[in-house]
Amino acid sequence: MFSQKQPRITNIWSKVIESDEAYFTKVVVESTGAYKYSVGRQGNDIVLIGAGVVANMPTGPIEVNDGLVSDITLHESRPDAATVTIHMEHPAGYRVESSEGIPVRTAIFLERSTIAGLLQGKKILIDPGHGGKDVGGKGPVNLLEKNVVLLIANELEQLFRQVDASVLLTRKGDESIPVHNRLKMAKDERADLFIGIHTHTDNNCKVGGTAVLYKASSRESLDLAKLVKDELIRKLKLTDRGLKGSRKFAVLEGIPVVEVEVVAITNWVEEGLLRSPTFHKRAAEGIFNGITKYYATTDGNKKVKV
Ligand SMILES: [Zn+2]
Repeated sequence: MFSQKQPRITNIWSKVIESDEAYFTKVVVESTGAYKYSVGRQGNDIVLIGAGVVANMPTGPIEVNDGLVSDITLHESRPDAATVTIHMEHPAGYRVESSEGIPVRTAIFLERSTIAGLLQGKKILIDPGHGGKDVGGKGPVNLLEKNVVLLIANELEQLFRQVDASVLLTRKGDESIPVHNRLKMAKDERADLFIGIHTHTDNNCKVGGTAVLYKASSRESLDLAKLVKDELIRKLKLTDRGLKGSRKFAVLEGIPVVEVEVVAITNWVEEGLLRSPTFHKRAAEGIFNGITKYYATTDGNKKVKV
């Protein structure tokens, strides 16, 4: 029987919290009143079962894709019980806190240190394409590839710094650097990964979407490219232009190499997207999530496990 007083779940949201002391995803379930709940683990996922509470918001998955949580699904398991499932990309420790008030908030704090663990001891080389006289592609309203790729690279660098991973950029400013020097830097620095950032250029302004090039005949590069592309598309929701093997990275033996064509700068809609700092951040998050997923797989960790 429903009573007017029966608490209802009215909102669910999540946020990445980072400070010097803490690094976690906070998932908050808001309700109109207190109810009894239990929180437990189902595989990697964290599940909150609330008794005597009903949903007063659409049920179904809420996308998060923050690198730790993929989505949160609210589900009415019985007429008087609701289940909130937090789908996790990687296993993580958690704690729960409730606060009274209007609304009542039940917060689940998920440790993001697991991501830092995946990247521990790795040296990532980010290569913002072009620079200096080599402007790269040019958008219909004159945005230059050399400038936007640097902005995305800077965001990506930040994400690695947050987890204390070792990260380097082939260029910090508007410099002209020959490709072979960039590749040499990966060798000299003994980088574990080489990540090129580009925006595709096409004579046909209708062509758009995300593509990833990888070092041909390198299984690791192909695995990495697939994960990076899939995670980017989850974030940006643009057309999938696929994966393409390239021979130009052959000199980097033993180093997985991918070159991301985040969007097509020559497409006028996508050039518009490239003007937004939020878009740069989302693109960087997609690439970062792909890389952490790569290191979460056996292949990615083969080198350190042996
Ligand atoms: Zn380019």
